[in-house]
Amino acid sequence: MKVSRRQSLRLGASSLGALSLGSALPFAATAQSAPAGDEHMGASGPITIWPVNHASFVMQVPGMVIYADPVGDPSLYAGLPPAQLILVTHEHGDHYNADTLAALVSDNTVLVTNPAVYGMLPEDLKAKATAIANGEVMSVNDVGIEAVPAYNTTADRLQYHPEGRDNGYVVTVDDRRIYIAGDTEDIPEMRALRDIYIAFLPMNLPYTMTVEQAASAALEFKPGIVYPYHYRDSDPMAFAGLVNEGNDAITVIVGPWYA
Ligand code: ZN
Ligand code: ZN
Repeated sequence: MKVSRRQSLRLGASSLGALSLGSALPFAATAQSAPAGDEHMGASGPITIWPVNHASFVMQVPGMVIYADPVGDPSLYAGLPPAQLILVTHEHGDHYNADTLAALVSDNTVLVTNPAVYGMLPEDLKAKATAIANGEVMSVNDVGIEAVPAYNTTADRLQYHPEGRDNGYVVTVDDRRIYIAGDTEDIPEMRALRDIYIAFLPMNLPYTMTVEQAASAALEFKPGIVYPYHYRDSDPMAFAGLVNEGNDAITVIVGPWYA
């Protein structure tokens, strides 16, 4: 399958000196084959993000290639740099697929999951995996990983993501904190986050939150850059409008998640 991607759409006025989208790739080793991602300025090099689909994305940071919730046909990842670290937030099929993981891991891949997914992993994947629960931290090379809570709070959504089971992640790389929310509502732990450079926020019903919940949370924890993801039929442009109405220093990036 030929990988081709639309460019992401950047909204709002970033004060963080982000690089232009779709510009030259950071590493010669990947320049031959990787499609252009979104480049953001890290402290010591670019942070490049490739939205893949729905909740799945690939992020290359100085010294590490991170896959978040990779699911789907492995050909979706063709041409992207190989995974060194894979983060899995929870067990739902749009976040965890053992066959996809098996196709993406190599001898050099570290897999990090919540405890429930760890318990479901086939033995060969489990051998590469570490489970961390809400509040626990670990590091892989120079990348810090904190598992943060991700859960529903609205009465008729509680069954989807019960508190304590699933993870979001705050990845610290190069002094930049990147928040991958996973499937969650606008919980107090999200609203209390600080110093987030890039955030990924879900907004689809009934599983996560409304566009209004997500925008309200973003305006409270003020990430430098926010990607609406996991939005399916929700309107990411409505989210962008609400965020930038409240604070136009937050850059909203609407990526080709469903292209
Ligand atoms: Zn879920
Ligand atoms: Zn989901």
